[in-house]
Amino acid sequence: MISIKIILSCSIILSNFLSCSQTALPSGVKANAASNTKENPYYSRTDTTVLQVSDAEWKKVLSPDVYAIAREKGTERAFTGKYWNFTGLGTYYCVACGNALFKSDGKFASECGWPSFFETIRKTSVTYQEDNSYNMERIEVNCGRCGAHLGHLFDDGPPPTYKRYCMNSIILEFEPDTK
Ligand code: FE
Repeated sequence: MISIKIILSCSIILSNFLSCSQTALPSGVKANAASNTKENPYYSRTDTTVLQVSDAEWKKVLSPDVYAIAREKGTERAFTGKYWNFTGLGTYYCVACGNALFKSDGKFASECGWPSFFETIRKTSVTYQEDNSYNMERIEVNCGRCGAHLGHLFDDGPPPTYKRYCMNSIILEFEPDTK
């Protein structure tokens, strides 16, 4: 009887460990990997043509967590994304379409819990839209190529721009500089 109890306890501990291991995976890992496969025909790091793709089509090619941010304007929980305190040197692309958005030298350490930048790579990297949701007056920042929701723009950034592009890690894809 005791041995049955021991076996049962061990299997419960093992199954808990396995489920914790799965949930501990950063959500962006799966999304980033999926974006670079042939399953997403709109992804390109060289083609800057503005895309006109329906949400129904995006739903087919984006992972659910990317879709929730990109097309449903979701927000990841603060301090949970993979890039909020990341300091690697390189380029950040839109994970949905491959558009170059930010360089690491335009990123700064912010205490807000989301990756924060003070400037984009090009003026056309992003577009802006008024956002009055949740009884707030904010500027929404979208990808200049695919229109994906990226985050919001605030006026409390560092010099020289004094802007803070407050982004969701899930919609970003980091590529390190080659030495
Ligand atoms: Fe995009």
